Amino acid sequence: MTQSIKSYNEAVAFHGHACPGLALGYRAAEYALQHLRAGRSEDEDLVAIVENDACGVDAIQLVAGCSVGKGNLIYHDYGKHAYTFIDRISNRAIRLVQRPEPVVQRIDPVAFTLREKVMAGTATSAENKEFHARQAAVIEKILRMPIDELFIARDVKPEIPVRAKVFTSVQCAVCGELVAEHRARVKDGKFICIPCAGDYGRGW
Ligand SMILES: [Zn+2]
Ligand SMILES: [Zn+2]
Repeated sequence: MTQSIKSYNEAVAFHGHACPGLALGYRAAEYALQHLRAGRSEDEDLVAIVENDACGVDAIQLVAGCSVGKGNLIYHDYGKHAYTFIDRISNRAIRLVQRPEPVVQRIDPVAFTLREKVMAGTATSAENKEFHARQAAVIEKILRMPIDELFIARDVKPEIPVRAKVFTSVQCAVCGELVAEHRARVKDGKFICIPCAGDYGRGW
């Protein structure tokens, strides 16, 4: 059944703040839904593969109805602003990659420069105010720009990475907690969980 696409304001409420990254993720998910079919995924028909874990992914979760727990949000820690959406019903897929020219810099170079000062905490209160006004205008623009000025979109072969279905747990020899066997490390012939192995990563 076709449902209306969630609004950008709903994405802001979900994410906790408005930002250009969220607006970009919103446009990607909105375009994918319109391109592949209308409506949000309630039952894992739509799969999103994201290649970063920044702000935009929150919009994708909300708009496309994809989540890690449902298994239809797949995260690759590639550090790329690239999003692939696969519709299991129509068996079609689309990949959107953000254009190489920095979008905020293209829209408003002053906002781009001010951002550095604001982030570094060296901006005056007037500069802070100006930055926020400019940032809001940039977001407005992102929400209305033609999609091909933001992303390079192309149809791709629908390929969904296979998830392990059966989980056997083993006990970590260091902390004693159970860990899925396929995520455990082996050290001196014993199973060890990732934190105990000191193998920290950003991935989840
Ligand atoms: Zn954000
Ligand atoms: Zn452990």
